[in-house]
Formats: sequence, structure tokens, C-alpha cells
Amino acid sequence: NTDLDRAKTLIASIPDYPEPGVNFRDISPLLADGAAMRAVTEALIAPFEGQFDIVGGLEARGFLFAGTIAMMSGVGILPIRKAGKLPRPAAAVSYSLEYGTATIEGPDVLKEGERVLLVDDILATGGTLTAAQALVKDLGAEVIGSAVVLELEALGGRKLTGDVHTVFAG
Ligand code: IMP
Repeated sequence: NTDLDRAKTLIASIPDYPEPGVNFRDISPLLADGAAMRAVTEALIAPFEGQFDIVGGLEARGFLFAGTIAMMSGVGILPIRKAGKLPRPAAAVSYSLEYGTATIEGPDVLKEGERVLLVDDILATGGTLTAAQALVKDLGAEVIGSAVVLELEALGGRKLTGDVHTVFAG
């Protein structure tokens, strides 16, 4: 798949951002390429076709893939937000960061037992995605799968998250 092969080359590595020692992955060039986005979206969905009722995207770049997945699969979107952005959050989950903690929140839009596919751009330590899995349960729905564009394998995130479908590893 040439578009998918090309998509991988469109993820840039930026050394020492946002701080020394961190190799930041920048997906901006991938986002800018329509054919690559289509190929990545198809690859994200492939194992879960017909198995989810709604796609949950993690703020902020997960929203972008949630949008493309939703349109290609004919489902709606659950925006999983950073704390303080929703006017009436129905659930909140806090998790540890390297320094301090973070909280994510979700709106009251899920039906009991609804099947959710979670999506984000990058799996790093796994804290964010693991919190999202717990959040969906707290919202009364079921996580049927988690998918990311790029897994930073060296950080061992899937020890926290459990099985994650990844398009690229690096
Ligand atoms: P984790 O919770 O450590 O797995 O971090 C994952 C979250 O942080 C995701 O929402 C990513 O968008 C973001 N993230 C972590 N590392 C990077 C990176 O190198 N580039 C872009 N986003 C990143």
C-alpha cells in the first residue's frame, strides 16, 4: 500500500521538543496529505469494521482521526476532552503524568452498552488511553478496541492499556 508506506514518512521526529531529551513526533505533514490520511484511516478501522457504534477521539489530535473514521464508518463521535472544557461533564478520570496529574472528561451522550472504538494519534506511556478506557466504562458504554496511528514502543504503553491496534510502530 503505497499511500500507507508514504504516510509513515510523513511523521516527523523533532529532537529536544518540548524539552531536552524528548524526541517529539509531529504528524502535521501526515494531516496535510489527503491520500495518506485516507490510508491511515482505513488501517485504523480495519480490525474493527462493523464492530463499533461510535468512535471516541482523544483531545486534540485524536479528534481528527475520530472525524475521518466516523465519516468512513457511518458512526458518530464521542469527544474525550481535557478537564474544564465541557459545560456538563458526565464523568472524569484522573491519571499520572511524569510530573503531576491530568484529567479527562466525557459528555453524557453514550447509550448503555454502546460499543466504542477509541482512537488517538500517538501511544506513548499509555496513561491517556488507559484513562479513556476507564472513562468510557464510567459513561456506561463498552470499549471494543483502541487504535493509534503511532506506538512509541520503547515507552511500553501497552503494559497499561492492554491490546492496542497500531498502524505504525517506532
Ligand atoms: P501517553 O499518555 O504518555 O501515552 O501520551 C499520549 C498522549 O500524548 C496522546 O494524546 C498524544 O497525542 C500525546 N503525545 C505523546 N507523545 C507525543 C509525541 O511525541 N507527539 C505528539 N503527541 C504526543
